[in-house]
Amino acid sequence: MIELDELHIWRKLSSPYRNSEVIPSLIQELSKSLNKKIADELIWEHIYHQGSVYENTLATVPHVLMIIEESDDIEFNIDVLASLGVVLIYLDNISELEQIFEEDHLNEKEKNRIQIAFMDSIEKFRNLVNKYSHNTEILNEDSKRFYLIAFLVSIKRHKEAEIFKTFNINDEYIFVCPTCEEETFLWNEENVLNAYSSDPTTNKNQEKLRIDVNTSNINLDWLEKPIDIMNINSLKPLIPYFKGDINCHSCNKKHNVFKGIMNSI
Ligand SMILES: [Zn+2]
Repeated sequence: MIELDELHIWRKLSSPYRNSEVIPSLIQELSKSLNKKIADELIWEHIYHQGSVYENTLATVPHVLMIIEESDDIEFNIDVLASLGVVLIYLDNISELEQIFEEDHLNEKEKNRIQIAFMDSIEKFRNLVNKYSHNTEILNEDSKRFYLIAFLVSIKRHKEAEIFKTFNINDEYIFVCPTCEEETFLWNEENVLNAYSSDPTTNKNQEKLRIDVNTSNINLDWLEKPIDIMNINSLKPLIPYFKGDINCHSCNKKHNVFKGIMNSI
């Protein structure tokens, strides 16, 4: 782990705005205050930017997880774990990590220290996310769906986590036919998932396409279980549709709804 007083290393770490040297003091402030605003600033302004992660992301995450581990502020802990879920979606294997390191920035020893501490912290992340999944009743529906992303990352369902990140508003999902790649628009209209051949915001007078619910033999236990544990009422009604089938409006082939949504990523 890169310690907070090793400023000469922090200074070298790549970041969105080339100012990683400010991170140690932010981490210190966060550990003292457990202030969500500081956590948000640290995560969304300094270590994650428009879907990209940096060397300073890898060095910062172990410190943030240590703070969560030592804190008994459940709301703070859950909120920050949910944010880290988005940051960590694709970050828990070594080959992904190696692509983050820029050339000539760091020596091998420094890189190794960052990698080892980061991989250890991923284990910590998994355990913490699992532990706090039983405390999510304090969250609103939107935050619960964010926490679901962290949960799916913790069980290595990365692409599935990406789906709930992409469609985090939960009002619209896109089905892309695995046979012909044509899109179908799935709209969540008061807990009913309606399918349309073109975007209903631009084409208001179109017929709904038929979705047969619960007809597919796809196993979504990995999704239903956390939704039940966290009591995510905004997703429960969609499960029968996710387990259903739709006939593509373009090629007429039948496909499972969730597989088509997965195919949109
Ligand atoms: Zn098709």
